[in-house]
Amino acid sequence: MTSVLAVASEAYPLLKTGGLADVVGALPPALKAHGIDMSVMLPGYPAVMKALTGGKTVLSYPDLFGGPARVIHGPAQGFDLYAIDAPHLYDRPGNPYVAPGGSDWPDNWMRFAALGRVAADAGKGLISGYRVQVLHLHDWQAAMTAAYVSYDPDNSARTILTVHNLAFQGQFAASIFPELGLPQSAFALEGIEYYGDVGFLKAGLQCADWITTVSPTYAEEICTPGGGMGLDGLLRLRRGTLTGIVNGIDTEIWNPETDKNLAKTYGPGSLKGRAPNKVAIEKRFGLEAGNGPLFCVVSRLTWQKGMDILAASLDALVRAGGRLALLGSGDAAVEVLFTDAASRHTGRIGVVIGYDEALSHLLQGGSDAILIPSRFEPCGLTQLYGLRYGCVPVVSRVGGLADTIVDANDAALAAGVASGLQFATVDQDTLERTFARAASLYADPKAWQNMQLQGMKMDVSWGRSAGRYAALYRQVAAMKVG
Ligand code: ADP
Repeated sequence: MTSVLAVASEAYPLLKTGGLADVVGALPPALKAHGIDMSVMLPGYPAVMKALTGGKTVLSYPDLFGGPARVIHGPAQGFDLYAIDAPHLYDRPGNPYVAPGGSDWPDNWMRFAALGRVAADAGKGLISGYRVQVLHLHDWQAAMTAAYVSYDPDNSARTILTVHNLAFQGQFAASIFPELGLPQSAFALEGIEYYGDVGFLKAGLQCADWITTVSPTYAEEICTPGGGMGLDGLLRLRRGTLTGIVNGIDTEIWNPETDKNLAKTYGPGSLKGRAPNKVAIEKRFGLEAGNGPLFCVVSRLTWQKGMDILAASLDALVRAGGRLALLGSGDAAVEVLFTDAASRHTGRIGVVIGYDEALSHLLQGGSDAILIPSRFEPCGLTQLYGLRYGCVPVVSRVGGLADTIVDANDAALAAGVASGLQFATVDQDTLERTFARAASLYADPKAWQNMQLQGMKMDVSWGRSAGRYAALYRQVAAMKVG
């Protein structure tokens, strides 16, 4: 067995604010079959400490960034968990990153430098009886681990950094540098210095033995000035040690044959079972019955997701004979655009502002298509749910959306491999043409059903990707030091 410690700030079901929690939560069980023994290290947030049962103290710090701390090891909701019990850093209610007023906790740099410090110590073998071969670090919160390992000549742990979203970088004032406990030489271009500041993600990208991101196309995009968000130069230098591995989904939670959130369950042989779900959606969103496609959206309502452009294109959606059921929350200004559109197009556009897991399942189970016009999308999950539920993904050709959906062009339709619609640019004109294209495909029930079935038979589980991670862990574990 290869021994890997995943280091992150979130892991579903213990704590989740984004898709990275799903990945951290899904990998340990999926990797078992591939001979990988994965434990997880998390900050001891209240929800994490509560879930830890019968844990033992395995490492103590008299002073970890301003207070005493312990590493507690034990089982928690299926994880083999190492929690950093440091109340002065982590024992706070609510969102892990943001104070009740809505701004970041001012000591976030300490909270996540501490995570890196402790994870590096685990990699060094300071936890008696626990030998780690690879530290798998997730996003900027865990990225400093790689710097602590790399600047310690006695630490031979191997490190892999996974970037779930390059937009979140963990950038802090240079004045924190002396507190980090790194040698002066680390504050350099080829170290953790980042445009005159300290960059946590940058440090990880510089120091980790390997970098992954969550789709091959996103791996390409982040190496370009357009997608690199200030880090493309460094990423180009590291191109040879950068891999894209797409996320999987939990195919038990997301299974239309057993899903309790649906009005009616169905499978590839019983697509007619989707009809009662459509009726339930129409009722919930106040929509009239119609002959054209019923589109849905399940999304954060943000710039990244292209929601401002979609909101501006809704008249065209209705003109093309479509209807829309939208579930989402996010930027207040974008929320208003959608609620306004719903009042302009009563019966054709229905909007629910909020976060509702059960309703998100129903939308996938009864809508004809899911719209995902993201400006960038590292991997994306909702298109994978759409494939599994026969809810045809209509997506922009970026990141993981480009990698997981086969566009219904003539060749793909003729070969029977189309699984959705892709469009090249996120602007109003393109969206308008895409609505029209979707409507005309939908008017051919056989072609539409072929796309649904093609999507439903694709393997969107963790199986394949877990195998890729396992192979990478072995490769990195065998890498020579230096
Ligand atoms: P991101 O992590 O960038 O928001 P993803 O597509 O990777 O985008 O993951 C989003 C996840 O959040 C999906 O599981 C999606 O179903 C869920 N989601 C987003 N908005 C809502 C909502 N308003 N209600 C329920 N689930 C939502």
